[in-house]
Order: sequence, then C-alpha cells, then structure tokens
Amino acid sequence: MNNNKTIALVALAEEVRQKIFCLEDNRALFEKLEGMGVELLGFFDEEISALLKWDNVYQHPIIAVNDRDSEKKQIFSLAHEIGHLFIDYGWLPEPYKNQNDFNDLEGVLSITHYRRPDNAQDESVLEQEAMMDDFARNFLMPYEDVKKLLADNGFHAERTIGQLVERYYVTELTARKQLAFVKNGGT
Ligand SMILES: [Zn+2]
Repeated sequence: MNNNKTIALVALAEEVRQKIFCLEDNRALFEKLEGMGVELLGFFDEEISALLKWDNVYQHPIIAVNDRDSEKKQIFSLAHEIGHLFIDYGWLPEPYKNQNDFNDLEGVLSITHYRRPDNAQDESVLEQEAMMDDFARNFLMPYEDVKKLLADNGFHAERTIGQLVERYYVTELTARKQLAFVKNGGT
C-alpha cells in the first residue's frame, strides 16, 4: 500500500472491528450495533440500500437497511454506514463519547443508493462513497487476514474467495473485490 489515505483507512477499519466492535462473526453485527445504542430499522425501497439518521430526541444514530436485500447485503450496508458514522461524523459509542456531543447532528445524515450516477456533478460524493465501500470491505474482511489466507492457499484466488465467503459471510462479489484490493496492495 503506497497511498497514505488507503493505509489509514485499512488500519481504521481493522481497529474499529477489533477494538470497538470486538467482532468475530459478521452476522453478530446487528446485535453489536444495538448494544452500542445504534437503532436499527428496516424499510423497502427500489433505489436506496441504506440510510443513516440521527435521532435528536433520544440522541442516538439510526441505521436503516433495505429489507429486500439479502442478509449478506444488509451486513455490507451496515458496515458502509458505520464508515459514514465514524469517519464523516466522528461518532463513537459510550463510554468513548457522550452522545450529547452530537447535538448538532440532525435528521438524515447519509443516503446510500444502489446505483451511483456516473455523471454525478459532485465527484467528491462519489469518492466518499467509494471510500466507504473500501472501509466496509476492510471492516468485514481485515486486510492482513485476507493476505494471510491467500498465502496459506498458495495464492489460489478461487479457493480463497470461497473461504472468504464462508468465513466472513459476504457475497462472492464483495469477496472478489477485497481479494483484488489486497492483491493490488490496496488499490
Ligand atoms: Zn454511503
């Protein structure tokens, strides 16, 4: 990895996973979030995969995921919104931060669409979305673990992808992207 931003993002994703979430099984993400005071909701929509909101009355974040999605896709959406919450809003659960510190936040903080317009007028939005996807993949499948798994498999890509899908409860596409990211040294 030769890009400072990528190195920092990968390190943060791993830190958040290990130290704050103590996450071993990605399927436990729903209850881990609820244990941190994040309210989870479901909704149905054709175009939106997830939403991040701030509840001013109860002072906690709300992540809503599309109920039409598979559980694996919902877990990815949760990880993507965790990226927004920690990186864009500097949120941390109790006891790291008092939830009243986020008084200024209000209403919908981020909306994640399935399709991102390629001709988006605001390129920084697309960059930010791509960064949250990088965060999500590295949060769900830690970089160094993937690297080690690949080496243990004698650099056999397909076998590694199969194991990533099994071990981290991600879609094959997400596993494939993370393997490519790791093989390319984080790009
Ligand atoms: Zn997003």
